[in-house]
Amino acid sequence: MRPVEKPQIGQSIQFRNSNDQVVNHVVQVSYKPYSEAKMPLVTCIGEYCSYCELKKDIGDLAVEHITAKTRGGALTEWDNFLLSCNVCNSNKGAQLINITDSHWPHLNNTYMSFIYDESGRVNINPILTGLSRQHAQKLYDTCKLGRYPQSQQSPSLSDFRWRKRLETWNRAMSNLQNYINGKLTIDDVLENALLMGNWSIWFTVFKGEDLVRRELISRFPGTAPMCFDPANHYEPIPRNPQNAVDPV
Ligand SMILES: [Zn+2]
Repeated sequence: MRPVEKPQIGQSIQFRNSNDQVVNHVVQVSYKPYSEAKMPLVTCIGEYCSYCELKKDIGDLAVEHITAKTRGGALTEWDNFLLSCNVCNSNKGAQLINITDSHWPHLNNTYMSFIYDESGRVNINPILTGLSRQHAQKLYDTCKLGRYPQSQQSPSLSDFRWRKRLETWNRAMSNLQNYINGKLTIDDVLENALLMGNWSIWFTVFKGEDLVRRELISRFPGTAPMCFDPANHYEPIPRNPQNAVDPV
């Protein structure tokens, strides 16, 4: 899951609204109605679901309450917002979540939380232990990332996230071959990645191609650069090294 950096309250940003007008905006503590936080979020972290990473039209993304509204989560506070697609939003639903018991893409290096493979599956990163593992598992269960055909957790009727991951994996693999063969430029690869989303799959497949990894970090809006080590092939590094029990 792509780790992101949300802008701080008070930060100035600029976007074009649905009437194609340039809006100069300062990130607020709260948004009433909360739907007004959508364009600032999309501007800063891109038109992607924060959880499944799929590219979505703005109209198909919702302002997601990290702690559910019905569970006492702040209805209008910027700090309680991410973006989510319909499937992740309904999977997450109104589960009771203690925010400190789980990884989150704006607080942790969630690229370390999970691994993605050629089957379209997502799994907990096997290197994790102790509380890091428990916190990754919590986010995995909350978003039902384990849903996969003919598994213990079958997808709901509208949950095709696994198929999109599979398509993206295959596309990223063919892009890698064509990039190595010189048939695709780095801009071609990035264009395809930005169009499809599933950032973590592109980042996984392009392991060893440092220039592509660097551009995946810089061109997907809001990807948290401190989560990756440029001196070591942009491999992930803990985001909270001061936290002895869960540095991820
Ligand atoms: Zn989603």
